Amino acid sequence: MKRALCLLALSLGLAHAQRAPAGVLTIRFLDVGQGDAILITSPEGKSVLYDGGRSESRMRELIRQYDVPSLDLIAASHGDADHITGLIPAAALFKPRFLLNNGVAATTQTWAKLTNILKLAGTQGLPARNQVLNLGSVRLTVLPPPAGMPAGDQNLNSVGLIVQYGSFRALLTGDSETEQTRAWLRTLPGGTLGPVDVYKSIHHGAANGDSAAWLAAVQPRNVVVSVGPNNYGHPTSTALNLYRKVGAAVFRTDLQGTVTVTVQPGGAYRITTEKGAATPAAVPVKPAPTPAPVVPAAPANVTYPNCAAVRAAGKSPLLRGQPGYSSKLDRDGDGRACE
Ligand SMILES: [Zn+2]
Repeated sequence: MKRALCLLALSLGLAHAQRAPAGVLTIRFLDVGQGDAILITSPEGKSVLYDGGRSESRMRELIRQYDVPSLDLIAASHGDADHITGLIPAAALFKPRFLLNNGVAATTQTWAKLTNILKLAGTQGLPARNQVLNLGSVRLTVLPPPAGMPAGDQNLNSVGLIVQYGSFRALLTGDSETEQTRAWLRTLPGGTLGPVDVYKSIHHGAANGDSAAWLAAVQPRNVVVSVGPNNYGHPTSTALNLYRKVGAAVFRTDLQGTVTVTVQPGGAYRITTEKGAATPAAVPVKPAPTPAPVVPAAPANVTYPNCAAVRAAGKSPLLRGQPGYSSKLDRDGDGRACE
């Protein structure tokens, strides 16, 4: 009996340990298989769920596993099922005030179900503009889809989010494709994007998502690919090579489970993974070293009081023209001092 109580206490303790701790920013890239679901919890315990993955039951499990007490906002990067299905149980359970979204209605049954649940929950649509939302002490900058994207294309109308806490920055852009990122590069003020500490791979590592030009602006230090078994070939070697080329460490939810970023006040952060297994793709690749600037071996104005000092510096003999040479040290005047 005592043992059973002990085990119960232990399991309760573990369950409690999974809740995002107070006093830090926690970002979880939830393992939802092929799809996206990112749970952001502020140091004050306020939470946003940005996308919910493709499965209602999986999202219910995750809400239990991570002991989510409330959601202040839900957000849909766009209306595809692998992003919004899990928002259905989240909305039903937490009745958040707003759903941040791209304002483009999808035509699927999943979308219809979500809008019904939102109505019942009293959740209002909040179309993405250029809002800055304060999630406690965490700053969320909304990147609305740029003007001119084809109206019916969900991916190209993805809503982006910049998460800032102290010096820490993360960037999430749903399934935006090259046409959208090109438009963002044209229209966003310089310095809006990178460098970012944590970046979500676009569109599960699809070949039409990330590009060299976009990543040059984003400058990601760590990339999380949210992906599961799929027939699309995600993540593609094209995307993984791009991440390697910018020297980013790569994390994958299909291999490592839920990826959690914990950010201290000020911005220092660490990344942990549910399964903990390092993969070849997760090994940080150092960028090619920049050539060291050419500097003289010794300052040109060095002077040695005597030959003992020259020998102590390992510079004997000193040749005429070398730093530190003086005729005073070259008694025989042959151009070699302190022989
Ligand atoms: Zn997707």
